[in-house]
Amino acid sequence: MGLGIANDALSNVDKQKINLNEDTLPVVIATWDVKNATKKAWKTMQNHESSLDAIEKGCMVEEANEKGQSVGKGGLPDRDGNVTLDACIMNSKGDCGSVVFLKNIKHAISLARKVMEDTPHVMLSGIGAEEFGYSMGFVKEDLLTEASKKAWNKWKKTSKYDPIINIENHDTIGMLAIDSSGNISGGCTTSGLAYKMHGRVGDSPIIGSGLYVDNGIGGAVATGLGEEVVKTVGSFLIVELMRQGHSPQKACEIAIKRIVYKPNSNYKNFQVGYIALNKNGDVGCYSIQKGFSMTKYQSNKNVNIKSDSYIIS
Ligand code: ASP
Repeated sequence: MGLGIANDALSNVDKQKINLNEDTLPVVIATWDVKNATKKAWKTMQNHESSLDAIEKGCMVEEANEKGQSVGKGGLPDRDGNVTLDACIMNSKGDCGSVVFLKNIKHAISLARKVMEDTPHVMLSGIGAEEFGYSMGFVKEDLLTEASKKAWNKWKKTSKYDPIINIENHDTIGMLAIDSSGNISGGCTTSGLAYKMHGRVGDSPIIGSGLYVDNGIGGAVATGLGEEVVKTVGSFLIVELMRQGHSPQKACEIAIKRIVYKPNSNYKNFQVGYIALNKNGDVGCYSIQKGFSMTKYQSNKNVNIKSDSYIIS
């Protein structure tokens, strides 16, 4: 049954495609096994808050989790020992905000939201993002934990730069949510590739690459080797494939193959994983390598789902 979404931006074609099922909403999905984060997001929507609030609160759970060494506090540093964060957020109106190369502020997702809501800009970087954060009341803190410092010191013995395929099965947290009113939002937050060059920015804060949401169609987020996602504008591609009628699953598969089939692609040596959600609450996920997974919270069930992958052996 349709929910009669108040969204003038939808074309008639998009409106016809929408077949929202009130019984199955809200839905939240996230990259990797992050049940605490999806739980927070789903409960937020059950509490009649928006999908945007759900995304922010869900991502904050992982940013505050010091044991996760790829997001927020405790993230693995760059090769010089600096923890630098990238994040972005998009709401159902198509607004977006992003912070890149951010130091000393743990909740990059919340700062990205502030950029979206309280500035005329989409993206703030480095010291500018940090100063804006302090002006908005964010607290300065050292993001390098003892555990991450230890890992960095160990890495320095060889200083070999090899992108790690699946960091403890949990890298960037990318999250998509559709609330009971049928409105979709998404977010993405990460400390990026471990031991990256100082100043390196990945796909996660780049709208269209690490994240894209079109409230008439659906959303997609990425994890893995950001450079490869940026080169194929992965999340935007997936949303456009869904617009053409592909399911979220099929759209993720086509976007992964876009990377794999590139001339001289060395896809065997890196991981990229995508998850996607459409307006009906259908979901999909796919990756290059084995080991990727998605967490879905829907109809009171919080489950981790193993992703199919292009390389199966
Ligand atoms: N996509 C992130 C980046 O390239 C890292 C990751 O998801 O592992 O910065």
